[in-house]
Amino acid sequence: MSDSSPSNDVCPLCGANEAAGAGEPKELCAECQAKSQALFNEEMRRVELIRTIRGRDVELYDIKHPTSPADHNHCGQVILIKAGQGFEVKICLRSNTVAWMENLFDERAGFSSFDTRLDALIGNVSLLIDSWGGGPYYMDIFEVDSVVSTEGEI
Ligand SMILES: [Zn+2]
Repeated sequence: MSDSSPSNDVCPLCGANEAAGAGEPKELCAECQAKSQALFNEEMRRVELIRTIRGRDVELYDIKHPTSPADHNHCGQVILIKAGQGFEVKICLRSNTVAWMENLFDERAGFSSFDTRLDALIGNVSLLIDSWGGGPYYMDIFEVDSVVSTEGEI
């Protein structure tokens, strides 16, 4: 209300502007909120999910990221399984491709967000779940060092 109140919380990200709202955890100020959202949306566009198998109750996606050094920018897979009223999600991330836990960073503005690349991936998976009508979900995230693929006929 006024700056005479000593209990005004500062934004936990920039530490300069006043935090929005008074709850816990403290909310970002409007400026950091807008910058974080822009970075998040940009990263969601970079983390591509390419559907490779579409079944009745299950879908498989390849995860691609433009900075992944792997073939075809591949950096993992998402398996989405419709289970009852909800969803079971398995995410396999290949190690040494993309730094998933890295905070999103805008070099031009020198701005670092609290959100990680993994958050952007999970944002994309949430959109998939929405497109299937939404519902409760359980997500497991595995990080794998090596991938062995075989194919054949029995
Ligand atoms: Zn701020």
